[in-house]
Amino acid sequence: MTTKCRKCSTPAIIYQPYSGLHLCKKHFFEDVERKAKLTMRQRYPVKKNDVIAVAFSGGKDSSVALLLMHKIFGGRPDIRIVAITIDEGIDGYRNFSIERTREMTARLGIEHIIKSFKDEYGKSMDELVSEKKMAENRYSDDKKEVGPCSYCGVLRKKILNKVARDIGATKLVIGHNLDDEAQTIMLNHFRGDVERMVRFSAANELDGFIVRVKPLRKIPEKEIALYAYLNDLPMELTACPHSFGALRKEVRRLLNGFEVNHPGTKYSLVRGFDTMVPLIAEALDVSDMKNCQICGEPCNDDVCQACKMLEKKAVE
Ligand code: SF4
Ligand SMILES: [Zn+2]
Ligand SMILES: [Zn+2]
Repeated sequence: MTTKCRKCSTPAIIYQPYSGLHLCKKHFFEDVERKAKLTMRQRYPVKKNDVIAVAFSGGKDSSVALLLMHKIFGGRPDIRIVAITIDEGIDGYRNFSIERTREMTARLGIEHIIKSFKDEYGKSMDELVSEKKMAENRYSDDKKEVGPCSYCGVLRKKILNKVARDIGATKLVIGHNLDDEAQTIMLNHFRGDVERMVRFSAANELDGFIVRVKPLRKIPEKEIALYAYLNDLPMELTACPHSFGALRKEVRRLLNGFEVNHPGTKYSLVRGFDTMVPLIAEALDVSDMKNCQICGEPCNDDVCQACKMLEKKAVE
């Protein structure tokens, strides 16, 4: 017997263990869009003349984020939406997804900017990986992973922020879903990195950094994947050859296990974090921003993380 949608009695396509609801396609779409709208309204209210930059890699998460921004705000003449794609220079991986980002932005009629590591840093990610022999050097002395993904993430964030600022963006949308958020919160706890938790949260807007907006942070990864599939959006078909993140993979497994036995765990983690961060931010003074002595970008040290990474030898 087919299970029926709790809201309209047509056949359900998904069951949400955390809400106890079976939903049909129409009501599943409504649920995803309602969650994104609510997150925007509560955490990142859009104002007249906002310029919304969307970090658009061409994977499922950023594709859904871009489509939702287009659906929610695309009809407003006072709002400008710009997709930004960073080409890290990863052969056999990023070149395919760049093509898909071009197709999607053309189809939706969205402005699209593509910037590469090569243009910005003079080197592609492939070149950096072989130069720094990253695969042999997983952890720094303070137990932080220093594999390719750490480099890639820092270098990508820097370009995204710079491009967003150059076009006058007031918001920078990132496709982090509920699973990403819960994993990052756990990882920062495991590392004892309280300052990092606060620094890039919505509770703390800093000079020179465009506010990072996460409309998908209350939507589980599985639902994002289904929404992307049903909307025929770009998905990651190949894996990045440098994919690393061993610690994150462990945390992902741990949280998924908890979620099966205790549905709603990921939501609880994010909810608890949201309550805690404003209180910690008050106690910690993290507003002391400087400008990097090498590149001039905003940072919290004399030299920004990206410049340190590019200067520093990964293998000492
Ligand atoms: S998997 Fe890691 S190295 Fe590959 S694109 Fe993503 S962050 Fe960069
Ligand atoms: Zn229904
Ligand atoms: Zn710098």
